[in-house]
Amino acid sequence: MQFYSLNKKSKSVNFKDATINGQAPDKGLYFPENIAQLKKEWIGNIENISNEEIAFDVIKPYVGNAINENDLFSIVKETINFDIPLVKVTNNISALELYHGPTLAFKDIGARFMSRCLGYFVKDGNKKVTVLVATSGDTGGAVANGFYNVEGVDVVILYPSRKVSSVQEKQLTTLGKNIHALEVAGNFDDCQQMVKAAFMDENLTKKLFLTSANSINVARWLPQQFYYFFAYKQWQEKNNAPIISVPSGNFGNICAGLLANASGLPVKHFIAACNANDVVPQYFATQNYNVKNAVATISNAMDVGNPSNFVRIMEIFQQQFLQLKNKVSSVSISDAITRETLLTVFNEQKYLCDPHGAVAYKALQDYLQNNPNEKGMFLETAHPVKFYDVVEPIINEPVAIPESIKEQLLLEKKSTKINVGADELKAFLMQL
Ligand SMILES: *Cc1c(COP(=O)(O)O)cnc(C)c1O
Repeated sequence: MQFYSLNKKSKSVNFKDATINGQAPDKGLYFPENIAQLKKEWIGNIENISNEEIAFDVIKPYVGNAINENDLFSIVKETINFDIPLVKVTNNISALELYHGPTLAFKDIGARFMSRCLGYFVKDGNKKVTVLVATSGDTGGAVANGFYNVEGVDVVILYPSRKVSSVQEKQLTTLGKNIHALEVAGNFDDCQQMVKAAFMDENLTKKLFLTSANSINVARWLPQQFYYFFAYKQWQEKNNAPIISVPSGNFGNICAGLLANASGLPVKHFIAACNANDVVPQYFATQNYNVKNAVATISNAMDVGNPSNFVRIMEIFQQQFLQLKNKVSSVSISDAITRETLLTVFNEQKYLCDPHGAVAYKALQDYLQNNPNEKGMFLETAHPVKFYDVVEPIINEPVAIPESIKEQLLLEKKSTKINVGADELKAFLMQL
């Protein structure tokens, strides 16, 4: 399949080039020429299809011939080799737990798929690739873990010193080998500026083949469809399709769900649950799309003032606002209500949400109150321990650390401290 740029000024490319480029030369996001259609019988029989086969069937039309089938099947299998359970929380609300991967966040799925695809393409062209990312916390860990030991790929991660949680920092800094963690004496914006400057520096791009692993890459976006299908496979009432509430920041996750739905997956309605960063909820209310500066909240992975993937959502709905509004609603939940929800669900249902999941839970609960015949699920996008500094004071007790990360937390941090500035980063990259 070919992918075109949403800015319509660059030429269409296949999956391989879309993955390697990340963004089209005209700075547009890539979008598939066709939306794959899954047969009704396939959907009707989904309970009898293995997760690996589901994922393979969903992604194959997009990858086309860029990866041979056996290799694609292995990539898919490794991407999803952990549980993605749908857990009942109340009579009408379930949680789709996306946090059982290696870095305890849903970003593992996109990062694992992308890293393996890129590794495959690099092997092909015997060219070494350097992946450069700035992270405010979650992305860096998933990318580091996904690319760890992938041959032919070096990863350089910039993170703001003392501004990520200690769990997140360990996930970035303890791997070593092809993963380099740069601890920047500045904030997240400084890190992003340095990365941008590196991409514009011709001396650097002559020496290194630089690419980014940010969330607009098609190889991170498209595999996020997988777990919407796994959710439906586990959904008990196949004759009453679910309402799905997605904690949203850059809108990549919900955009993948909408693509799955456009491919034939039964979903009655989607809720884009936002924190105080309410550009999209305001758009739904007023039809005016006004980009803002991000404000800091307790669900900080959703602190986005200009959600990149929203243009893809508009494209799925062919720019028709009324059709969009029929399928999707969007609400903004304050930090105070998020805290209250997290505590109530913990006390009454004995279920511990992370702050992002709590935003989606509340949005779903409100929706179901107005639509009492429906049932729904919210996506639990991270394990609460990743945000223990927020969660523990709310519930007033410690969050148990999952066995899978205990060892990593004991490892020694290995980072290179650097100051803010394009030259600092360049000096590091030139000696790689
Ligand atoms: C990144 C992230 C989100 C937001 O996902 P988008 O695809 O950017 O909308 C939500 N929750 C957690 C825990 C995240 O890390």
